[in-house]
Amino acid sequence: MQSLLDVSGLAFAYDGAAAVRDVSLSVQPGEIVALLGANGAGKSTTVRMIAGVLTPQKGDIRFAGEVLTGSPSHVVVRRGITLVPEGRLVFPQMTVMENLQLGAHIKQRGEIAALVDKAFALFPRLAERRGQLAGSMSGGEQQMLAIARGLMAEPRLIILDEPSLGLMPIVVQEVFKLIEAVNKSGIGVLLVEQNLHQSLRIAHRGYVLEKGSVVLAGTGQELLADAYVQKAFLGR
Ligand code: ATP
Repeated sequence: MQSLLDVSGLAFAYDGAAAVRDVSLSVQPGEIVALLGANGAGKSTTVRMIAGVLTPQKGDIRFAGEVLTGSPSHVVVRRGITLVPEGRLVFPQMTVMENLQLGAHIKQRGEIAALVDKAFALFPRLAERRGQLAGSMSGGEQQMLAIARGLMAEPRLIILDEPSLGLMPIVVQEVFKLIEAVNKSGIGVLLVEQNLHQSLRIAHRGYVLEKGSVVLAGTGQELLADAYVQKAFLGR
């Protein structure tokens, strides 16, 4: 089967300071893949390269078999990858509906209403709040909106950068259930997380980054059972 995303040997340094040294990973169609690692391991830098926000200094990115390396973000979005960046950057002074409509800026006007309906079907909480200002919603609701807005471009792969950040555990569970629902609707998910336990529960596979390199890869079960993961991340 053709990989959805294939990344090999990515590297990036900010002003000479290496942030990503050697990252190779793949996402197969239908998968949720977790990208794990401590603060500063290079997770965000990796996904910014995939999304075309940063240009890799080494390595290759292929999407559905076609070269994507170095394509700018507006091209990457049209090819079918959406990045939902860290920090749920919704427009606080705009309503839920307006935020969603902005997410569909690459779509034709006539397509937008149907896409909004689709998002509301997946996220009923947002439908109830369609007229509410995004800035007045709870952290969990804003994260749902950020994800729903990312779906408006109809991606084949959605990249979520730390969707659980700053949310209460019960809300994290709810957001992760929605991520599973998004995946079941046929969209590949690359899930950047520090929250190892919860993310490996929903991920089919995962990669662990340390100091800019992949140090471990495996299924969720394999990673949870790994002595290194237990020591480094779970404090055992
Ligand atoms: P976090 O979970 O804290 O977001 P991360 O695994 O996503 O961490 P990155 O944000 O990719 O890691 O950071 C990797 C390294 O690159 C860190 O040392 C960080 O300080 C550095 N870095 C990130 N962004 C920049 C920037 N814009 N300019 C300079 N250095 C940066």
